[in-house]
Amino acid sequence: MLSARTALRAPRSIRGLATSGLTKDSQVNQNLLETHSFIQYKKQLENVKIVKERLNRPLTYAEKLLYGHLDDPHGQDIQRGVSYLKLRPDRVACQDATAQMAILQFMSANLPQVATPSTVHCDHLIQAQVGGVKDLARAIDLNKEVFDFLSSACAKYNLGFWKPGSGIIHQIILENYAFPGALLIGTDSHTPNAGGLGQLAIGVGGADAVDVMADLAWELKAPKIIGVKLTGKMSGWTSPKDIILKLAGITTVKGGTGSIVEYFGSGVETFSCTGMGTICNMGAEIGATTSVFPFNPSMVDYLNATGRSEIAEFANIYKKEYLSADEGCEYDEVIEIDLNTLEPHVNGPFTPDLATPISKMKETALANNWPMEVKVGLIGSCTNSSYEDMTRAASIIKDAGAHGLKAKSIYTVSPGSEQVRATIARDGQLKTFEDFGGVVMANACGPCIGQWDRQDIKKGDKNTIVSSFNRNFTARNDGNPATHAFVASPEMTTAYAISGDLGFNPITDTLVGADGKEFKLKEPQGVGLPPNGYDAGENTYQAPPKDRSTVSVQINPSSDRLQKLTPFKPWDGKDATNMPILIKAVGKTTTDHISMAGPWLKYRGHLENISNNYMIGATNAENGEANNVKNLYTSEYKGVPDTAADYRDAGKKWVVIGDENFGEGSSREHAALEPRFLGGFAIITKSFARIHETNLKKQGLLPLNFVDVADYDKIQPEDTVDLLGLTELAPGKNVTLRVHPKNGDAAWDAQLSHTYNAEQIEWFKYGSALNKMAAVAAEKKN
Ligand code: SF4
Repeated sequence: MLSARTALRAPRSIRGLATSGLTKDSQVNQNLLETHSFIQYKKQLENVKIVKERLNRPLTYAEKLLYGHLDDPHGQDIQRGVSYLKLRPDRVACQDATAQMAILQFMSANLPQVATPSTVHCDHLIQAQVGGVKDLARAIDLNKEVFDFLSSACAKYNLGFWKPGSGIIHQIILENYAFPGALLIGTDSHTPNAGGLGQLAIGVGGADAVDVMADLAWELKAPKIIGVKLTGKMSGWTSPKDIILKLAGITTVKGGTGSIVEYFGSGVETFSCTGMGTICNMGAEIGATTSVFPFNPSMVDYLNATGRSEIAEFANIYKKEYLSADEGCEYDEVIEIDLNTLEPHVNGPFTPDLATPISKMKETALANNWPMEVKVGLIGSCTNSSYEDMTRAASIIKDAGAHGLKAKSIYTVSPGSEQVRATIARDGQLKTFEDFGGVVMANACGPCIGQWDRQDIKKGDKNTIVSSFNRNFTARNDGNPATHAFVASPEMTTAYAISGDLGFNPITDTLVGADGKEFKLKEPQGVGLPPNGYDAGENTYQAPPKDRSTVSVQINPSSDRLQKLTPFKPWDGKDATNMPILIKAVGKTTTDHISMAGPWLKYRGHLENISNNYMIGATNAENGEANNVKNLYTSEYKGVPDTAADYRDAGKKWVVIGDENFGEGSSREHAALEPRFLGGFAIITKSFARIHETNLKKQGLLPLNFVDVADYDKIQPEDTVDLLGLTELAPGKNVTLRVHPKNGDAAWDAQLSHTYNAEQIEWFKYGSALNKMAAVAAEKKN
């Protein structure tokens, strides 16, 4: 039998399915690297049949995949855009930056291993400086304690670990773990990349990943379904990236919110699986929950080429009933794109939905006074680093080279994975890039996430860069707010790097060769899959050992980046009285105000250190200032986290009073962990953003709402409060807030509502959801 790594190297026949006698009842592994995870098509199809009978209507492809993973297909309320689905994902994937706190939390549940197959990928912490090899060595040195922690924790708790240098999480998932019909959650917003292989792949916060790793069902608001109908066929300079660039221009960055984008139509079968990955990846830029393509022949080709023919064959058995949309299914909205007439697009600057077709780019750029010189062209990243992308970009470079031209702009290449890097090294494209003057970076995020030590300009210099990445928000790539970053396909990015001119249109314009003669670049040529198979390159995967009992998780006690979590104390069973208000926050209080990002991200594995940013961005109603609150007992003004810690150390529970939609923004579990660590007891608001509210519940804090929002105005920052009725806390039953005014007026009561269900009340009583899980696990053991 071939080992997993060898199998990946073996050339596979393209098109056509193997016939090894699989049946609907066969047990087929999800991938070549694990022996404990199997594809559950049979069960998922049964679930779909139950739901179809209940709903009595045809289902879209995405609906089948979602409902196939329901925890309770018989009882689940299903209304698109309304109900909350409880789901059982097939896998969890975490990148190195978000994995730290997720794994620390998982550890505090005292479970012996993850309940759902999971992997960790080292890609975000590698800074691009001079080139792949040196940058990687430097990053390994700088982040050693984080990588050692993740590696040892993965070995201990039975997760696959992808070492630094292996590649970007989404490429590794596509190459190894994605398969049609699956449901994956990943702690990164571009997890939807795997939709290119026919699965639902959804980006989540760390707390959700912990739940699934610990065997809790995962909750998702039933998404609406946007159908994107593709007709015709792309040609010339147009590539799959242009489909999503065009779509972003139609929908804007918010148009996909709360929806899954499902592609359909005759155009779907006209391009590669990796191209579909690019489109789904960048669906994150329109706010979509995820994007997905239905199972199709390009996916079979890709599965064959990556050593997974058995999966392709198995999927084909389920194609008709499970892995295709039902005829007559209905979308909430349909958008049509004609591939025959689709032009290459360039999106930006500063936002990915400002879409300009190449034919209009010059006039638009001049009219807007965008800097016309392209300083840097960057190709690759998790979005666009397939073999096809690389071969198409290399073909243009070769053509330019034949006319004696090299890159006018700085040109960088970020391979998405070690497999892609090794394959293009073997097949010559890598040398083509280097001869052109390109710098090949490490197989990692690098400039895409701002891990770029850019030297060619000074901060504040107005300049233009073009990349084949997905995001181009202000300062994302190089930390310079004056950089005008545009997003385009790798081939268009390369054309810009050759001409050095944002006004250049390779379809109509000419260049001047070294011989002084004008010429037009030839249309890009590429192949979807390597004719000689993929070269897996260096083995960068660490499987969990068979005997995990002797593995110890490595956390240096004096580390300022990592700290083991101590389980929070359970509730003492009493009403809480005489509590100070840490801060009465006024106006917008997002998770960024509650737990700021930027330099604080370094501490995301160290709760004590990152808690020093708690609420430092929120506005204090008392003085209109940020991070300046009065200690009720000492009258001293200090920062919010310092005052919270002072209360905690003096044995005082405290509350926060918040405004509307408290905790909106990205799902950041630190925003709930920090107040709990600092001794908070309840967060009382006009209203919560739902995910933050759930996160607070998970950490054992009480999120409560004023029944009469006018009480928010009545309560003063220096009042003290009691919370009464906690011993009878029950679903749907209000809690009483008794307010003792500072000015000596009589105490008054306010009614507070909550959204606890019976299971969540247990989390509060036990001190956190993880405490409850640990108690259940301990009971099972005894
Ligand atoms: Fe995110 Fe960019 Fe890394 Fe992709 S390459 S995972 S978009 S940071």
